[in-house]
Amino acid sequence: MPNVGAWLSAHADLPRLDCEILLAHRLASARAGIIAHPERELNEHELATLDADAAALRDGMPLAYLTGRREFWGLEFDLTRDVLVPRPETETLVEAALAKIQSGQRILDLGTGSGAVAIAIAKSADIAVHASDNSTAAVCIARENARKLGVDVHFDISDWFSAVTGLFHLIVTNPPYVAEGDPHLPALRFEPTAALISGQDGLDAIRTIVKQAVTYLEADGWLLVEHGCDQAASVRQLFATAGFAGVATLPDLSGQDRVTLGQHNRSAEV
Ligand code: GLN
Repeated sequence: MPNVGAWLSAHADLPRLDCEILLAHRLASARAGIIAHPERELNEHELATLDADAAALRDGMPLAYLTGRREFWGLEFDLTRDVLVPRPETETLVEAALAKIQSGQRILDLGTGSGAVAIAIAKSADIAVHASDNSTAAVCIARENARKLGVDVHFDISDWFSAVTGLFHLIVTNPPYVAEGDPHLPALRFEPTAALISGQDGLDAIRTIVKQAVTYLEADGWLLVEHGCDQAASVRQLFATAGFAGVATLPDLSGQDRVTLGQHNRSAEV
């Protein structure tokens, strides 16, 4: 019978950490236990499952879809292929939102997917958090994540603002923003297209959201949008055209333009 150590050696072409996380997941053990016990034998079923996982990883499947979870903002989120894998750069959106929000205010997360942004914010601030997604499957996952992580988030199934009611002090979104035909898309092929691709220039969803957000923002409320690193100037232009004030772009941790924000300026409305 092969053991853990032999399996790791057989898959040494894959990142060691990913292999250890897979072993821990499939053998229902802590990673420390996997590392400490390379002699642990693998039965036929475990071996077949792990070899299939290794093949999927080699094919480009995100590890998070194999384990069904991913950490974001120090919290563990369950996920399936119905939702995008939460990215570290999206923590920039959460940080920017927390810097603006005040206790007792209302915030809306559009296109919540696994619920990562809404739940991270709900964990960190004493505010009313609403979140929406047009995918029923995504809303089910997000609801379950909120329940497991012990936060109260109100979820709606909504095509952007279609089912949203009321006014918000903050609207945040990590919408699809990849352009059709983008050369990075083959690497993202395991993730839901609807969460990634948005028209010829990747800006269709952002155009819709920026235009409609003014109707759902309190006077002086803020809109914060995650976007691609080469889209900042176009997104700032969309904000300016919609009458937002104080428009600025923030970099993510790797220094790439990632989040543009602006303040609703009711007096500028015609
Ligand atoms: N940041 C993602 C990527 O390119 C895209 C996410 C999105 O479209 N919201 O990997």
